[in-house]
Amino acid sequence: MSAVQPSLIDRIIRDDVRAMGAYHVPDSHGLVKLDAMENPYQLPPALREQLGKRLSEVALNRYPVPTSEALRAKLKSVMQVPAGMEILLGNGSDELISMLAMAAAKPGAKVLAPVPGFVMYAISAQFAGLEFIGVPLRADFTLDRGKMLRKMAEEQPAIIYLAYPNNPTGNLFDAEDMDMIVRAANGDVCNSLVVVDEAYQPFAQNSWMPRLADFSNLLVMRTVSKLGLAGIRLGYMAGSPAWIEQLDKVRPPYNINVLTEATALFALEHVDVLDEQAAQLREQRSLLSAQLAALPGVTVFPSDANFLLIRVANAAQTFERLVSRKVLIKNVSKMHELLANCLRVTVSTPEENAQFMEAFVASLQD
Ligand SMILES: *Cc1c(COP(=O)(O)O)cnc(C)c1O
Repeated sequence: MSAVQPSLIDRIIRDDVRAMGAYHVPDSHGLVKLDAMENPYQLPPALREQLGKRLSEVALNRYPVPTSEALRAKLKSVMQVPAGMEILLGNGSDELISMLAMAAAKPGAKVLAPVPGFVMYAISAQFAGLEFIGVPLRADFTLDRGKMLRKMAEEQPAIIYLAYPNNPTGNLFDAEDMDMIVRAANGDVCNSLVVVDEAYQPFAQNSWMPRLADFSNLLVMRTVSKLGLAGIRLGYMAGSPAWIEQLDKVRPPYNINVLTEATALFALEHVDVLDEQAAQLREQRSLLSAQLAALPGVTVFPSDANFLLIRVANAAQTFERLVSRKVLIKNVSKMHELLANCLRVTVSTPEENAQFMEAFVASLQD
């Protein structure tokens, strides 16, 4: 095999791409996996068997119907998308975030979001050649209204992301703060598209979906990943047909594969099962949060998501000690200065939460 000349790579591949690291997914083999906000439950065996039959009938030899008409209609009704709104499907909401960046990438265009926040907003902006403006939250992770408005006025962003609840902090932003920002972005301070990212909606029971009718500059984005279907990669974004029509042009024509479509349709027919799992996880969240809060030297932040953000004395050390006890969580302490010594743990089954707690307590005492 002849070696690839580094100079040729330098000539072809963008400087910023060569300079970056790959999106790192740690090896979780043999570990209790509490790092990625997955739902720990599978579908019940009887439903899995039915799904197997359904999938065996899917025409693998055919391209998907490019509009995914049936799945879009099902999502609209199950997820209570307001009448008159349209939806766009993505291969995970990650793909929708890329599509938004691609479609808005005029020269000099900017993306603005509170930080610490979901990293893909910044990464997708960079890939598409947009500038990313991060506006720090307050120390308690609430929105800093003054700072947001000032930056919105100064930077005139094309797109503003508000994750509701926010990742990695877990909190729902204050309703009045959100309202004010969406209004201000609707012409008063800037003219921006506001994307409310509701990836954790099943755990929040609070949504901007009904507000779509109130704001013409609003899109609501969701995913089935945290609901229990992370493996099928399906995200959706709801909003005015005028926006969706434009964004649909940058969507790869067959981005939702036939197995994903069939699985999602099946799962949505049984969404009560997934809703019940989410309810159990919400209950476990309260229990775990109370247990953690009772530990000396540990701060637990309020969460409306399926994870908890916690602050300890030495996050790097606690993280490593947990790994040595076969528990994998996420050390987010280097993501942003506001997250100093913070760890993020996914809420799981009672058994896995107990394993985590035991390992965590031991890791603090070593
Ligand atoms: C997990 C997550 C997503 C991405 O979800 P996928 O649909 O799995 O790509 C989007 N936004 C936030 C805030 C998330 O935490």
